[in-house]
Amino acid sequence: MTTKLELVTQHVRAVPDFPKPGILFRDITPLLGHPEAFAASIDLLKDAVADLRVETIVAIESRGFLFGAPLALALGCSLVPVRKPGKLPHAKRRVEYALEYGTDALEMHEDAIRQGARTLIVDDVIATGGTAEAAAELVRQVGGEPVGHAFFIELAFLEGRKKLAPLPVRAVLTY
Ligand code: AMP
Repeated sequence: MTTKLELVTQHVRAVPDFPKPGILFRDITPLLGHPEAFAASIDLLKDAVADLRVETIVAIESRGFLFGAPLALALGCSLVPVRKPGKLPHAKRRVEYALEYGTDALEMHEDAIRQGARTLIVDDVIATGGTAEAAAELVRQVGGEPVGHAFFIELAFLEGRKKLAPLPVRAVLTY
């Protein structure tokens, strides 16, 4: 019998030299195209964060939405989108973060999180951890309590989880 972990592993495609030479891109589109594998990935994420008593999920644009939204429904918690600049219509906070070349920014509505709500930050992949760190800072700025990070895939050799310490970091697959 195929386990859930085997099923999800079989549906992640490694694409060499995308988006640029030297990067091995982990492509989740085969997983999205296979309902049983996609459901298994959400079950495994749910199990991985079961002890964190999460009340709110913050999902990072755009592939983070694909995991954050079904996980929020599975856990019965609220869902907050973190978006690229200029997309959110209401009063918001912005955090800038460093990229390999230059900076990027993320935004969140000021009233998105109930004060003190136990908040889990979700994205598809953790690489250097810069994106997730910026999202955790936004949670703090609007009055939520970050209690952990969850990713479908962790690229462990980039040591992104060090940047997120002391918050717990959970991942379904590790490369
Ligand atoms: P970072 O801020 O360095 O942790 O980058 C995280 C973001 O980059 C995530 O939203 C991923 O979608 C994307 N990412 C970085 N490296 C990869 C990779 N090798 N395969 C797929 N996505 C990646």
